[in-house]
Amino acid sequence: MGKRGNGKTKKGFAEGARRLRRRAEWLTAILVLLSVPTLWFLLQQVGSEAVSPVASPETQAMISPPRAPEAARSEDVNRCNDPLVLVDREHDLPADYAPDDLVSLRDLGVPILGRDALLRREAAGNLERLVASAAAVGEELTVTSAYRSYEDQRASYARLVSIYGRRADKTSAPPGHSQHQLGTAVDFTNAAVGYEVRRNFGRTSASVWLQDHAHEYGFVLAYPRGGGSDTGFHWEPWHYRYVGAENARRVREGPLDLQGYLVREGVLPSC
Ligand SMILES: [Zn+2]
Repeated sequence: MGKRGNGKTKKGFAEGARRLRRRAEWLTAILVLLSVPTLWFLLQQVGSEAVSPVASPETQAMISPPRAPEAARSEDVNRCNDPLVLVDREHDLPADYAPDDLVSLRDLGVPILGRDALLRREAAGNLERLVASAAAVGEELTVTSAYRSYEDQRASYARLVSIYGRRADKTSAPPGHSQHQLGTAVDFTNAAVGYEVRRNFGRTSASVWLQDHAHEYGFVLAYPRGGGSDTGFHWEPWHYRYVGAENARRVREGPLDLQGYLVREGVLPSC
């Protein structure tokens, strides 16, 4: 009896244990099923925080992906569009830099040699007023060169080197190193110098008028007499660059010439 009773008890235990195990399995299954959406929800929260606009600048900097090449490129172009970008013998513009707001000087009624000449919109508008003011007091200013692309500069530099050899370096810049690629530089001439680009333009009354008034329209003489050691260029009385009226006024007041001013206040192209 005791033996049988004992066997019955054992059987009862075994069944109880099986029931418990089944319950435990169900419970585990339910817990697993419940935890899946909870985990998914938590992961979503972590993910959305990573791109949240309220993240601190430091956090943002840490989690920001590296800059895409296009973004870097557009920042560089903006930098090259700055009116105070430093372009000289040491600092050059990229071959593919071209301003995107060039306008026709012919359309504005500015006297030009050749079919047309282009300048950036703001510089062109001020140049239009400048030549009109000069004409009003009997001074003739004709534009012989304005915007030149990298390719234009390469061609003109190669032509001058073929004629003058190394001496070409004194009056012409290698491609990328010319202010004309900025679309804010302009070369003047007039009848008094036979519509050529010559130093004796600096002795004309039109040149004297420019020295007195160009800054009022935001233009400055980029390569003044005696500034060759700074800029790498000798005196170019015909070459003016637009930097805006406030900058032009400050350059005129001195003591820095344009090159010194750009080194102190300007931006490097680095593009
Ligand atoms: Zn020039």
